[in-house]
Amino acid sequence: MSTSYIRTICPFCGVGCGLVLEVRDGEVVRVFGEKEHVLSKGRLCGKGASSIRSLYSKDRIIYPLKRVGDNFITIGYDDAIKEITEKLLDIRDRYGGKSIAIFGGCQNTLEETYIMGKLARFLGSNNVDSCARVCHEPSAMALRETVGIGGSGVSVEEVPRAKVIVIAGESITESHPVLVDYFLEAKRNGAKIIVIDPRVTPTVRLLADMHLQINQGTDIYLFNAVANYLIQSGKYDKEFVESRTKGFEEYREVVRDYSIEDAEKITGIPKDEIVRFAELISTKPTIFSWGLGLSEGGGVNAVRAYLDLMLLTGNVGIDGGGPLVFRGQSNVQGSGDLLKPNRFPNGDINEENARKLAGVWGFEPPLYKGLTVTDTFLRDNDIKAVILFNFNVTHSLPNRDRVIKKLKELELLVVVDAFMNETARYAHYVLPTAMWAEEEGSVVSLDRLIKWRFRAVNPPGDAKPTLQILSDLGAGLGLKIPTDPREVFEEMRRVVPLYGGLDIKEVMDHSANSRFPNRELVLYKDRFLTPDGFAHFRPVRYVDRVRNGLVLITGRVVTHFNTDTLTGRQWLSKLEEVVYINEEDARRLGIRDGDMVKVVSGCGEVIVRARLSRDVKVGHAFMVNSLSITNNVVCDELDEESRIPLYKSTVVNITPIHP
Ligand code: SF4
Repeated sequence: MSTSYIRTICPFCGVGCGLVLEVRDGEVVRVFGEKEHVLSKGRLCGKGASSIRSLYSKDRIIYPLKRVGDNFITIGYDDAIKEITEKLLDIRDRYGGKSIAIFGGCQNTLEETYIMGKLARFLGSNNVDSCARVCHEPSAMALRETVGIGGSGVSVEEVPRAKVIVIAGESITESHPVLVDYFLEAKRNGAKIIVIDPRVTPTVRLLADMHLQINQGTDIYLFNAVANYLIQSGKYDKEFVESRTKGFEEYREVVRDYSIEDAEKITGIPKDEIVRFAELISTKPTIFSWGLGLSEGGGVNAVRAYLDLMLLTGNVGIDGGGPLVFRGQSNVQGSGDLLKPNRFPNGDINEENARKLAGVWGFEPPLYKGLTVTDTFLRDNDIKAVILFNFNVTHSLPNRDRVIKKLKELELLVVVDAFMNETARYAHYVLPTAMWAEEEGSVVSLDRLIKWRFRAVNPPGDAKPTLQILSDLGAGLGLKIPTDPREVFEEMRRVVPLYGGLDIKEVMDHSANSRFPNRELVLYKDRFLTPDGFAHFRPVRYVDRVRNGLVLITGRVVTHFNTDTLTGRQWLSKLEEVVYINEEDARRLGIRDGDMVKVVSGCGEVIVRARLSRDVKVGHAFMVNSLSITNNVVCDELDEESRIPLYKSTVVNITPIHP
């Protein structure tokens, strides 16, 4: 019996914990935390600890499938690749490259993601995107324009050095459990933790010294009022603002209209708490951390207003302070860096960058701005063919009926996945893919740490590594693509300026600090990475939203992960189809605990059980996003600039169904 121990990275959240897989006779039999990993140091949460179960799930797809009428038949891998590539070329000939789109989930490695973008450009398409669009595109946009890089400016290792930590719109005890130890250490060192959330979450209970129980979607008012207070009382960092930022005068003019008194009425947070919050964040060092409550609640403007406060208090570019983004998946940072319809992997879409790409790729990419995944599935367009790599859009995107309608209209839908998920049911071809432990390549954590997943075992049946599938599709289309991720990594390093300073040996050594761009734990100490080297205020105004009903918030629970494709196969417990509402709202609506209720929004309705909870603020409701029915009622309002769906702001009416 042969036993080996293979290092990899957890397939779930953006903490990117190091795992060691014990492999016996070609099968992974045990998983444990990797003590040498620079960040996780042997820690694991329940999701990581049970991660190997889904590898051996009985319902994995192991042979390619082809739709015939309403059924699927198995088809040989080579035949499937041949038919798919012929159809893609035919569609390109008839409608042009603009009619084709390639979208990837955020579990794909950097190498796979980079090649998806290259392959689409070879076909004449800039319609490329990833599920980073629907979680942190607003964060990446706001960070890039404010400080330079669309990622965390401070590493998790700096958390214990902070004096104040703000957590806006995330329950890390549910979503990023291993981070909690770092926050507890900060508390032991005397840090004050402020949580901004409409719900009383487990994170509030465990970590918060102060809970700002905000009305959903009013963050901009809060942040602008706090800014005005700090400016008027002279408690902002004048020296930092004068020497390292631009745009302060315009910012001061905008926030002048926002008072603490009105903030109390609009946000629902008592005035004295708002003032205390303002005083606390003017301490140094403060970490401004946030999650989807901010980005999916208020879009790019909410993140801008938050980052403006960070600049105003001079809390960036210092040890133990700066922006920290809670990225939800193991490679969401990397997917957002590499796969965008309005950017090349080497920067803006323009002729100069296209020429540089042609120097490496051997062909020039198109120059038009492509479509986002949300515009493809939620708005009218001329897309005829879509390839989805590990991206279950039917579950992930809002307004499910509209997504399904678009899927059915496509002339060609290819789903590359390990499971027959809700989206695969509408595919013309399904290609089975290797899972995380069955292939290799690099992924980027929520604090820019790039680490390599080593292959532990072979995929079952005809399932192939995603890079192999991309290479075979490329061969059929006339583009040579290496199957060795090391080769792709080196090409990517030459193309992507952010990754140019990486060393593959450090990436493969899980004990090394291999953060991009140059191993910094704290970015921007001397200079911001904006074109002029300064940080830029981006003042924004609060826009009130009409609320004729309860505001439905969606979010995570610790035992389930995103679309539940993996965790649904790991745990014995199934998620209960439930909506949580406050007791006061329930009384008003005639709803008792356990009643079946109808939840109706502007785009759909579901029938679920009601659970009464004091943890949900009056005027709000809560459903878990891993429930596939949740997106039947979450509507498809998109943030104007970042095109993220505002998942956490759907107005719903809830009525009891009494027998
Ligand atoms: Fe995996 Fe995140 Fe849990 Fe770490 S904290 S084991 S990366 S799910």
